[in-house]
Amino acid sequence: MPLLSLPEYEVLAAEAHGHLCAGQILGLRLAMHGVQLLGIEDPKGADRKRLITYVEIDRCATDAIAVVTGCRLGKRALKFVDFGKVAATFCDLRTPRAVRVVALESARDRARQLYPEIAEKNHQQMRAYREMPDDELFSREWVRVEIPPQDLPGFKGARVVCEECGEAISFGREVVREGQTLCRACAGERYYRPL
Ligand SMILES: [Zn+2]
Ligand SMILES: [Zn+2]
Repeated sequence: MPLLSLPEYEVLAAEAHGHLCAGQILGLRLAMHGVQLLGIEDPKGADRKRLITYVEIDRCATDAIAVVTGCRLGKRALKFVDFGKVAATFCDLRTPRAVRVVALESARDRARQLYPEIAEKNHQQMRAYREMPDDELFSREWVRVEIPPQDLPGFKGARVVCEECGEAISFGREVVREGQTLCRACAGERYYRPL
């Protein structure tokens, strides 16, 4: 499926996300811009194995980025780095090139300037973000991303078992400490507290 038009993506994004909002439109535009800069024409079809996307926020825009790129967490093609920024880096594994696209803070002010008569901010931004040129919405930089082999889709590696909790660990996420193989939780990175 080659790239769709923005209105076509809006329908898919509303389905995937449960509603349509300014963040969705911004995310769609951001991802369309990213894949176009890379020259990837069919991210969900013929080019689906070329693209890895690092997304820097877990908000509305994130779901929209997945709609355009086809990159998903469960396919190991979507990587979440929790920087709290409306930004994403699109990596073309074939060329290999990568471009980081960032939503400009000034885009909100620009939306206000363009449509002062629309009082509701979400609607004001939705309208503006559909129409503003890429340069008013985003900055971009070409970057290099070193993607370790164990982070790539299709990586085959031995599963190991944590010597502390007995749970299985894939993709080389174990920690070896003083000769002991541990999962990251047992190694001290546990984000939950057993009751
Ligand atoms: Zn939303
Ligand atoms: Zn463990």
